[in-house]
This record gives sequence, structure tokens and C-alpha cells, in this order.
Amino acid sequence: MIYLDNSATTSVDPEVLTAFTKVNQNFWGNPSSLHAFGARAEQLLIQAEKQTLSLLNAKQHKVIFTSGATESNNLAIRGVCHAYKNRGCHIITTPVEHASVYETAEDLEQEGFRVTFIDVKKSKTEILKQIEEAICEDTILISCMHVNNEMGMIFPIYEIGQLIKKYPKIKFHVDAVQSVGKIPVDMDKMNIDLLSFSAHKFHGLKGCGALVMNQYLKLVPEITGGHQMYGLRSGTINVAGAVALAKALRLAIEPLNANYNHVKSLYDYTVKELKAMDGVTVNDCYPELTPYIINFAVENIKGETLVHALEEHDVYISAKSACSSKSAQASRILLALGVSEEVALDSVRLSFANTSTLEEATQFINALKLVVVQMRKEMMK
Ligand code: PLP
Repeated sequence: MIYLDNSATTSVDPEVLTAFTKVNQNFWGNPSSLHAFGARAEQLLIQAEKQTLSLLNAKQHKVIFTSGATESNNLAIRGVCHAYKNRGCHIITTPVEHASVYETAEDLEQEGFRVTFIDVKKSKTEILKQIEEAICEDTILISCMHVNNEMGMIFPIYEIGQLIKKYPKIKFHVDAVQSVGKIPVDMDKMNIDLLSFSAHKFHGLKGCGALVMNQYLKLVPEITGGHQMYGLRSGTINVAGAVALAKALRLAIEPLNANYNHVKSLYDYTVKELKAMDGVTVNDCYPELTPYIINFAVENIKGETLVHALEEHDVYISAKSACSSKSAQASRILLALGVSEEVALDSVRLSFANTSTLEEATQFINALKLVVVQMRKEMMK
């Protein structure tokens, strides 16, 4: 199998699975229990939190372990807006956010919040200028993804973080699902108040995510009950999931530079091969892109058709992101990034993991060439 859909999810690292199993077998107590067996589980949870904070250089933060970034994004955005609505009702975000941010912002609009979606077709400087121009007395939250999940564009998170230092009333939320474990994320340097991610994007487990948040922030919880997780996410805590998340994070971050260089070499090879093919457009006209994602279109072949044709060769890529790939419409994200509707409908996403190999990239290119020739022949009939 040639699996190149790693932005949707990655394989589980056996070490992560072992850590998860060990906690479930040996330390399955409830960390909220008063007795020593519960306290042992609590210690593991505290250790997982400390490790997570240290790996992200989050100096004045705490960790809310969640079921994944969708939950983290909802908690961060709704939580800040509901907690600080007496200070203002304006949010700034982008039109290319994942649905868990985009639709949450739309919901908040229905509740009476005002949302500014900045134009992301512009350069980094212009994006920053637009944000500064959009900031007003009423602004309480900026939510911006670090790396876009369909195109791979990298947003100027460091610069936004510096910009908002002038506006202490504004909270800064970053959806870092496609960046954590792949490119550097330094919460302190980047001046990030709230950061969301999911462990399954870097060889961790599905159902395990985190919201790392400034400990001095207020949030209105989404899930009420037994006051676990600093009172912000009630429910018996998944200690094994938290330990497994911290483990996956460490395994991804410690060799980050070497992994990045390896994936960059796969990216360079694949993009060069794609660009040499007739009728292939690589959607890469942005100043900063992650090498983990390649978005491209094959002229007159719908993305969905190409995905299915490649799967016949045991090659797995994606049309749009996994959560929107079943809709027949052109990707909202590609359109907002200035890609024409025609190209957007033909676009597919290939995404690497640290475990991807040059051999896999070569086999992908060979399969693609074969499939495109076959499909073009059929179209001529
Ligand atoms: N944000 C981004 C940028 C994503 O790519 C994804 C998933 O692909 C999510 C949020 C949601 O993550 P999950 O489905 O793990 O909750």
C-alpha cells in the first residue's frame, strides 16, 4: 500500500500504542479518586501535561486533554467568546480554516458576534496589514490556523503574535493540527494563548487531542459535569490517551529537523515530477508552504475520479480534506485561495508523513502516469 493521505490521519507508532496499553493495563485508576491508585494515575496525567507544555515551549499554559482538535477548536473559540462577550463581540479569522473553526465562527455570527474573514490570497505583509486594520475596540479573538490542511500554506503566526502584543484584550487562538510535530511550534515565542491539535496527525491515537491554553484565561466550558480538567472539560479523564499523546508528541518533535529535511526531499522530488507531466498544475503559488502537503490538479480529471483510479493501484491520496471530500462541490478553501473553480474541482491532495519513503513517492508518480494515460485514452473514445 502507498499511503499518501497523512494529513487525514497517520499510522500509529507502536511505541505510542505500547504506552497507551501499559497505562490501561497497570494504572487504570481514576485520577480524580482520593486513594493512592487514583493518585498514581493523576501523577501520570501531570507528567503528560508537563511534557506537552515543555515540548511546545508553553511557559504559562495548561493542557486540557480533549477528544481531538475539533473539540479543542470549539472549546477555545466558543469558550473565549462566551467568557469575554462583555468586553466585545468581534472575531477575526480566515476563510480557509477547518470546518471546526469556520462553522463555529458562523454559529457565533448567529448569536450576534461579528466575524471578519481576512483575504488570504494576499502576501504575508498584506495579511498582517488586514488584521491590524480589522482590529477594533470590540475585538476579543483572533483565530488563525498555522498550516492549511488542503493547500499546505503556512500562516505568519509569529508575526500575528507579535502584532497583538499591543492589544492585551485580544486572545490569540491557533489551530495547529497540521503543524505540530512537523514544523516548529513555540507557544511562548509566538505569543499564542490557545493552541489546538490532534495526536493522530503525528502517529498518535485518534480520539486524543489537546487544547493548550494560557492559564490566566477564562473559558466558558462546553461540557459541564464533574469539573475535571480545570473545570473546563467534565468527564472521567482518559489518562492513557494523555500519556500516549505526550509520547507521540515527543517522538515527533525530538527528530523534527531531520524529519523535515527528509520530507522536504520527498516534496522536491514529487513536485518536480508532477510539474514535468503534461496537464498537471501544482497549486504551489504561495510564499510559504509545508513540504508535508502537495495540492495538484490533473486537467479534465475530477479529483474524486483520480482518487478512485489510484486506489485501484493501492495508492491512497485525497480529494480535498478528509472531512469535506464527500461533497461534490469545489473546495471552499481552494476557491478562497484564488484557485479557479475548474482547477479546484480537479484538485487532489497528497500528504506525506515522516515515515514516507522515496520509493513510495516514486511508485506514486509511476501509478499516476499510468492512470492518467489510461483515463485520457478512455476520454478519447
Ligand atoms: N483543523 C485542521 C487544520 C485539520 O486538518 C483537522 C483535521 O483534519 C482538524 C482541525 C480536526 O481534527 P480532528 O478531526 O482530529 O478533530
